[in-house]
Order: sequence, then C-alpha cells, then structure tokens
Amino acid sequence: MDTGQCVHCGLCLSACPTYVTTGVEAESPRGRVFLLQKLREKASWLNQNAIKTLDDCVDCRACEAVCPSHVATGHMIENWRQKSASSLESSGSESFRLFRKADRYLQFFFGSIRGLAWFQRLARFSQIPIIGTWMTHMPFFPKSARKLRGGLREAVPRTLSRTHKSHAGPESSTRVMLFVGCVMDTLYANTNHHAVDLLELGGVDVVIPQEQRCCGALHMHGGRPEVTKNWARANIQALEQSHAATLAVTAAGCGTMLKEYADLFDVNDPWHQRAEQLAKAVVDITVLLAQLPLPAASSIHGTVSVHDPCHLVHAQGVRQEPRQILSRSGYVIQEMPESDLCCGAGGIYNLTHPEMADKLLKRKLAHIPDGIEWIAAANPGCLLQMESGLPDKDFNPHTAHPVDLVWNAYHTENLVGLQD
Ligand code: SF4
Ligand code: SF4
Repeated sequence: MDTGQCVHCGLCLSACPTYVTTGVEAESPRGRVFLLQKLREKASWLNQNAIKTLDDCVDCRACEAVCPSHVATGHMIENWRQKSASSLESSGSESFRLFRKADRYLQFFFGSIRGLAWFQRLARFSQIPIIGTWMTHMPFFPKSARKLRGGLREAVPRTLSRTHKSHAGPESSTRVMLFVGCVMDTLYANTNHHAVDLLELGGVDVVIPQEQRCCGALHMHGGRPEVTKNWARANIQALEQSHAATLAVTAAGCGTMLKEYADLFDVNDPWHQRAEQLAKAVVDITVLLAQLPLPAASSIHGTVSVHDPCHLVHAQGVRQEPRQILSRSGYVIQEMPESDLCCGAGGIYNLTHPEMADKLLKRKLAHIPDGIEWIAAANPGCLLQMESGLPDKDFNPHTAHPVDLVWNAYHTENLVGLQD
C-alpha cells in the first residue's frame, strides 16, 4: 500500500460518495491520498481539517475498485484510523469519541451469546412505542441512532439465529458453515433461518457452530484490532472444527472482514496461513445460492430494485448474483441509477457522521424507481439505513435482504417453510 502509486488521474472522483456529495477535492480519494502522503512527510500537517478530511471517508472501497494504479485508499485510511483512534478520541473529534463509545457497547453486546440475547431483547423493547422513545432519549443513547429505530421494518425475532436446528449429517461432502454475524444473528435472525432453508433446498448440509463470534469489523474501525484478532481466531477454529469447505455469509460487511483476516496476523504467525484458508472458504450467500440448482419460479412475485452494498460490490466484486437469484425466483428487476453508491450506512458511519450519512441516504432514496415494491440489499447496515429514510411504513417500497425475498417467493410456491 503506497500513496506514491497515485498518478492523480482522477478516475476515482466520480466513484467517491463524499466527493460526489460535496464536490470538494479534499473529500475525494485523490485528495485523501495526497494528504496521507503529506502526513508521512510532516506530522505537523495533522490539524482538525486534516482529521476531518480523512475521517469523513466512508471506507466504501469504491475508489479502490476503479483505480488503474491499484491505490488502496480505503485500506490506508482505515489503517490510519485504527492507529489514531485512541489519540484522536481526546483531540475533540466528535466522531472518534462516538466511535470509541460505540465500540465499548459493541464489545459488551457482541462479545458473548448472552450479550447478543440482551441486544436482541433491548431492540425488541425499543419497538414498543413509548418504551422505545424513552430508551432513545436516555443520555447513553447517541442522538444519531434515534432515527435508526425506524429502520426495523419487522418485529425483532425472539431467538438468535444460531439456535436454528440444521440437519447436517455427520459425514457430508456438501457441508457449509453459516456465519451468523451479530446484527444478522439478532435483528435479522429470520434472514439467517431463511438462508438455511434455501441452502437445504439446494441440497446443502448446513452447520451453525455455537463457538463462532462476531467478525470484529466494527472493532477494527473503532481502533481495537486486538478484539478483532481474538474473535478471528475463534472463527477460524469454528470453521476448522466444522469440517465445512465453505463459509456462507449473509452480511456483506462481515464477508469482507472475514476475507481480510490474514492481514491481522504477521506472515510468520501460523494464524496467518489459517486465516488465508478461511478466506478461501468465504462466500457471500447470494453467490452460493446462485450456484445451487434451485428451481425457477412458476410465477411473478414482485418488482425489485437492487442496492449494491459497498462491501459486496467494491470489496468482494459481487454484483450479478443478487439479481440472478431474485430473477430466478420470480422478481422483475428494475435497476436504480447509482446502485453502487454508498447509502450512508458504512458500518456505524451513520452514527458517527450523521450529516454526511443523511445526505447520502437522501441521494440514494431519490434514485429509487417509482412503483417498485422492494429494495433489495444483502447487508444489514444498508437495510437499516435505507428503511429508516423511507417515508411511509404502510406503503411500498420496503427494504429486504435478497434471501428473504427469494424465500418468500419459494414459500408462496410451497417449496420452503412448509412446517411454519
Ligand atoms: S484513480 Fe487512483 S491513481 Fe487515479 S487519482 Fe484516484 S487514487 Fe490516484
Ligand atoms: S473509500 Fe469511499 S469514501 Fe473513502 S475515499 Fe474511497 S471512495 Fe471515497
């Protein structure tokens, strides 16, 4: 990763959400690469403006996907953020303060199965109108998170998705481990259940080891790589002990983090090689479902526009598969302009940078085609962010994970969920 690779061509500008929103060079990948270079040469360049310029990056990786010189701008800024997180917390930077605060909560809730169950319970309470309003006005609750309450379209499930009983035989050659995540395991537990049903419909044996942990992506952003490393080790062991050759992931953000675990360990550390093995096994659920011989629907089940989550399309290069599985299961796809421009979710960017996140959300919603029923996104952060901005809870469109839409279509055709 080297800032010197940048040839200042500007091809990254139109891909960068903060540049297209502000039109300011400093808020572009090229401007940020220039600044990183200057900071390397002279530390005194670091002032409040410089911090803001780098910290406003959504880490969407769109610049990396289009850069002809392979400049890893997103990665470099994330490294800078991790190294600077603790020192900048005390520099008066509000977003770093929020990052660290969120990180403490996240460690508590996502650090154990009991914590996850509590998180799920609290999210359910927050859906009760009076209690929810009271909770979100408590001093510990970030103001920027209030609006996200409206991002939960359906009732939060009562049990974690890891309690789902799969039917994997002891010696299965088609065994897949499902990575259930933290937000997916709690707020979107039903999506993970649906993923299991669809995989089983495709002839796959699914295992969900209880020992798996949160991927740790949010802790990396919060400047705590040691937490991510611990959880990475647990996830590597869980996959190895599951004897599955494939690790299916329902959240794009988690998939990217899992694929990058090897970067956490020194090349001479045995965990580095084990992490590389895990990376080879990781596959987004939409890619895996597209490969399986699932039946074509016998009728039309709705109209849908696909939003491409940054960590799916830019970081993992997955664009067609969500459309393929939706189309095969009877949905008419209507493309939206700028489907691959960030919606403003960006991990917890919408909590730490509410103003910019709001601008990106408005831009995203303005591009949704009229008359469609669904906006599909294979990442929980995008679903929460976009649903929170939709004006009317009683009318279309609504957001849904592609897995849920596919499951609904097959359920209507009596192919899955027959025991429900
Ligand atoms: S596309 Fe790459 S080389 Fe061109 S300006 Fe952007 S970062 Fe630099
Ligand atoms: S990672 Fe995204 S927000 Fe950050 S500089 Fe690149 S394109 Fe812009």
